Amino acid sequence: MRGYEVLFPMGIDRNGLPVEVQVEKQYKIRMYETPRSEFLKLCKGLLDTYEREILDISRKLGFSMNSLDPKDVYRTDSPEYRSITQATFIELFKRGLIYEAERPNIWCPRCRTTLADAEVEYKEKATKLVYVIFKVKETGEDLVIATTRPELLVGCAAVIVNPGDERYKHLHNKTAVVPIYEKEVPIIPHPEARPEFGTGAVMICSYGDYTDVRLFRDLRLKPTQVINTDGRMEPVAGKYAGLKVEEARDKIISDLKEAGLIVKEEEIQHKIPICWRCKTPVEFIAMKEWYLKQLDFVDDIREIAKRIKFHPQENKQILDNWLDSITTDWPISRRRYYGTEIPIWYCKCNHHVILPEPGKYYQPWKDEPPVDKCPICGCTEFEGETRTFDTWMDSSISALYISGYLRDEELFEKAFPNGIRPQGKEIVRTWLYYTLLRVYQLTGKPAFKHVWISGLVVDEKGEKMSKSLGNIVYPEPIIKKYGADAFRLFGAGEAKLGSDIRFSEKRVEGAARFIQKLYNVARFISIFPEPDEREVRLTETDKWILAELNRLVKYTREYYDNFDFFAVNEIRRFVWEILADQYIEMVKARAHGSIGSEREINGARWTLHKILKTILKLLAPVTPFITDYIYRELYGKTVHLESFPEEEPFEEEYLQLTKLINDVNSQIWKAKRERGLSLKSKVKRIAIPKELKRFEMDLKAMHNAEQIDYIDSQETIEVEF
Ligand SMILES: [Zn+2]
Ligand SMILES: [Zn+2]
Repeated sequence: MRGYEVLFPMGIDRNGLPVEVQVEKQYKIRMYETPRSEFLKLCKGLLDTYEREILDISRKLGFSMNSLDPKDVYRTDSPEYRSITQATFIELFKRGLIYEAERPNIWCPRCRTTLADAEVEYKEKATKLVYVIFKVKETGEDLVIATTRPELLVGCAAVIVNPGDERYKHLHNKTAVVPIYEKEVPIIPHPEARPEFGTGAVMICSYGDYTDVRLFRDLRLKPTQVINTDGRMEPVAGKYAGLKVEEARDKIISDLKEAGLIVKEEEIQHKIPICWRCKTPVEFIAMKEWYLKQLDFVDDIREIAKRIKFHPQENKQILDNWLDSITTDWPISRRRYYGTEIPIWYCKCNHHVILPEPGKYYQPWKDEPPVDKCPICGCTEFEGETRTFDTWMDSSISALYISGYLRDEELFEKAFPNGIRPQGKEIVRTWLYYTLLRVYQLTGKPAFKHVWISGLVVDEKGEKMSKSLGNIVYPEPIIKKYGADAFRLFGAGEAKLGSDIRFSEKRVEGAARFIQKLYNVARFISIFPEPDEREVRLTETDKWILAELNRLVKYTREYYDNFDFFAVNEIRRFVWEILADQYIEMVKARAHGSIGSEREINGARWTLHKILKTILKLLAPVTPFITDYIYRELYGKTVHLESFPEEEPFEEEYLQLTKLINDVNSQIWKAKRERGLSLKSKVKRIAIPKELKRFEMDLKAMHNAEQIDYIDSQETIEVEF
């Protein structure tokens, strides 16, 4: 409608954990116990089902992507898409931005894979804080340490106390003896120990949290692997070996109690890190993984982000906060199946990395290696990489993929950087951040000109919708009951751009009532022919409403230019309170031809059609179905290919009269109602402010008044029967 050539493709992000978790649940199988090809087939089947549902609901909601035809949508798991993901990996690998390292990583024992920081959520949970007695070797005194993770005692490598904490000054650099395991560890003064938490003395274990990970590195402590990849205790844990983490915790607490080594137990609310996909508490486990460098790029991304316009501007803060919190490179390898394979083979002799040529989709776990012998050592036996990428490795290049990157230079020239990225605020630290990072690494440019960050749709009380809370609202029944337009109109006008939207069926119903009103207004206007503009004389009443209309056009354009649809509330107010309640009532008689000259009659009819067409165009992006239906019925073509209305010059002074018109009309109607008369019934005389004299012909007819007198605006309006 604004004359732009728009590429707005529909994509389905299909890679990664969500479908795998769902397949495991639905078929009651474990991925690791299922042959890989079979598991992939089950994932694909489920994805196809979900995809059909997504496309179906998108169509019903009137999404305006270029095409919602299954043959036109792009999928992140298609061989073509995956080949591009792999090509970008090969390029960054060759440029030295990718490396392998063994480090403690966040690990989901249920999903059995490494997770990136961005894939971790935090949950408040009631946790036991136990106060455990350590012995000080040199002095024999008790040193009490509070911990929520006593099962990690075996991995304890140090005790820290705050250097300023008077209680422990005499213990600096002495030795603590870990209970049960009788292991000797140093007592180190370190500012990380908070005197107010527990007893102020803290045990550092491999690994309870990020602080542990950092202190092990900073203090050069030797880690012990305490928990295995299944979330069970390692043999080093002695009698607790093989137990699940929670079981081991309960058991060790009761053993410590029995030995008289617990002085106190407290229930505290503790923020625990969980896997964002399956909600299982995560562990920190040292694993060898592939990393993509990101620390070196944080400053660049901060600069790049300044060149992008955010809508609303304040939501940029979410990205800035995330950038400030990044402390490690991005682990990109995952020990899962349904993802893009890491395109690497290793020579069996020396584990040399062999990369294939970019351009094809590779599955090293089943494909032949791309070479006959290792180019470095001549080895002729190979092993294919079995791991896949973090799913954000795929979705972070969607901006490039849709622009034809590595596939269509002409399209890329036109479509990159993308005009706008619309997305939800809950994936700023993943989708948005990773896209900016990857696109910058590959092209040196910001991926977008604009970023539009919407809030979430939450329930009526403001709670996030989730399966476990049982407060999810499914769109289908709502659309069926009220129509997609009502649903969309509600969504557009319910909250300020970027804020959460509280779902309310009542408010959707209100939106549906407006659409009914719009339909009724259109039906009324459709009675009258649309006159030729040259046969028209506009009265003051027509000029007044056209001034209001132009003000509305200006207002709406300003909002829409900022990708903000909150302006629909103003359109609703105009249609209901100004057009229907006032103007239509005022010009009914003239439009029907009962008063005025032929040209003035045409004036009312022409204005009515002008308003209707304009309103339909303003609302077309928000309520595409009803506006198009009316437009086609009345004007014989689709509204969606019309030009968007532009503000025409108007005299501001008309706008001052709107409130007065409303007040005067309301008072006259009120006087009639109080006498039990219909609004059309005759009155002998009305006395109204002189500012309204210019509307005399229409007002006289509307109120059926024999005589109108004019008074000063501070005088009281009179109605004489
Ligand atoms: Zn998980
Ligand atoms: Zn080799």
